[in-house]
Amino acid sequence: MPVPRFWRQITNRYNLIGTRCENCDEVFFPPRHVCPICRRIGKLEPYQLKGRGKIVSHTTVHVSPKGFEDEAPYSVAIIKLDEGPRVTGQITDCDPEEIQIGDEVEVTFRHVREDGESGVIYYGYKFRPV
Ligand SMILES: [Zn+2]
Repeated sequence: MPVPRFWRQITNRYNLIGTRCENCDEVFFPPRHVCPICRRIGKLEPYQLKGRGKIVSHTTVHVSPKGFEDEAPYSVAIIKLDEGPRVTGQITDCDPEEIQIGDEVEVTFRHVREDGESGVIYYGYKFRPV
């Protein structure tokens, strides 16, 4: 499969694709169809986020949801991306106790879980300290 076609089939779950308003330059993630600032005069285009940002708040999860038992304890943070949008994501590759507000992180695409019955492997984004 040619690479460009492959990438077009990847949704924003695997790639930080948001939208950017050509009228006011605001970037949105998850992507929006209408700019809340410009409304009808806004024009939204797909926008690839770099995936770097800073932690604005975080919490450690000690009891994880079914299917994620092996992951606990883990840290979930709200990250303000360099382009502006805030996203929630799991912080990986570090001790949850060492995470601090203001820490710089970058996105990493990881295996999230495997569905034994269907053989489906889910991937998604997490963040790690820079
Ligand atoms: Zn706008």
